[in-house]
Amino acid sequence: MTVEKRAWQSFIPVCCKVESPSPKHKKQNNSLQRLVALWDLSSSEDLSNSLAGSNLHVFTFEELRMITHSFSSSNFLGEGGFGPVHKGFIDDKLRPGLKAQPVAVKVLDLDGFQGHREWLTEVIFLGQLRHPHLVKLIGYCCEDEYRLLVYEYMPRGSLENQLFRRYSVSLPWSVRMKIALGAAKGLAFLHQADKPVIYRDFKASNILLDSDYNAKLSDFGLATDGPEGDDTHVSTRVVGTEGYTAPEYLMTGHLTAASDVYSFGVLLLELLTGRRSLDENRPQREQNLAVWAKPQLKNLRKLNRIIDPRLEGQYCESGAQKAASLAYQCLSHQPKLRPTMSTVVDTLEPLKDFNDISLGPFVYTVGDLHKENPKVKL
Ligand code: AMP
Repeated sequence: MTVEKRAWQSFIPVCCKVESPSPKHKKQNNSLQRLVALWDLSSSEDLSNSLAGSNLHVFTFEELRMITHSFSSSNFLGEGGFGPVHKGFIDDKLRPGLKAQPVAVKVLDLDGFQGHREWLTEVIFLGQLRHPHLVKLIGYCCEDEYRLLVYEYMPRGSLENQLFRRYSVSLPWSVRMKIALGAAKGLAFLHQADKPVIYRDFKASNILLDSDYNAKLSDFGLATDGPEGDDTHVSTRVVGTEGYTAPEYLMTGHLTAASDVYSFGVLLLELLTGRRSLDENRPQREQNLAVWAKPQLKNLRKLNRIIDPRLEGQYCESGAQKAASLAYQCLSHQPKLRPTMSTVVDTLEPLKDFNDISLGPFVYTVGDLHKENPKVKL
């Protein structure tokens, strides 16, 4: 976990509280956020009764221990702010109505920065919201102090790993555009839901990829209800991840769907340039990707210079121009000038149709591999 992520997550225990709610906010009786607040104090039995219509399975700790081989290190998939994630396999005998399938089991780290509230937010939001571009929550476990989440298994892991891991193959241009489009569809769905949801922590590590590089949003621990009626924003404590957060939200705590659009613009830049939103290993003026890249997006010569060199020139120039122009609009300092996510989807739709010439597999030499990870046997 990066240092900046830790710093931001220290706000999390209070993030779900909407401060100074207007009378209109008080009327949101059955909003997802309201449900989180209601169930926060209820027993796990109340929760499972209330979620009965959501198709979520309630697992025992023992069942999850069994399917992950006692959370063995060979089944370890990764670790984020919530806690470690292990692969498990559900066979068709475990539950009637639950098909045999691989799953990812996330265990709340009791000494970590997140807690019951974020676990509950995830269960309630993902229990109610279903979409091809949201990761599917299969079930949960709430036993004694244990809090676990069981998701569909996403074979290619997070976009962060695919895009930035030093050993990974460079993602071809068309795949990058497909991922951008999938993630945009997930956000558009949230923003257009009957009770709009603001995702609030949109970033590469929260986008998971299936075997066909279909992108799905995960980690709803920071999600919150969007504004209702005539309201245009909700006021919250600022949470998120530095480098992705919209400037107005950072400065005022005023959260709108446009804050997610800004974060989407940063992600689009990451896909275009292969650079992280924040990179302290770069020269000072290049550390914040949005600040550094934005002035270069409108000029074709400059744009070509900042496109990910790992693409080795294998990208569609007109597509890159359109994607760059879209990123520019998403990163507008005035939230009202940013496009909606449905416009983003429409703009991205044609950009994935590009015939990449295969760039071949790894470009690393054995020597490089060994230097980066001395444990690799030569
Ligand atoms: P997270 O706590 O969501 O940041 O997850 C930490 C890491 O676990 C991710 O970077 C992924 O590599 C892995 N992971 C999380 N969820 C899944 C999943 N549903 N399928 C496969 N891997 C996952």
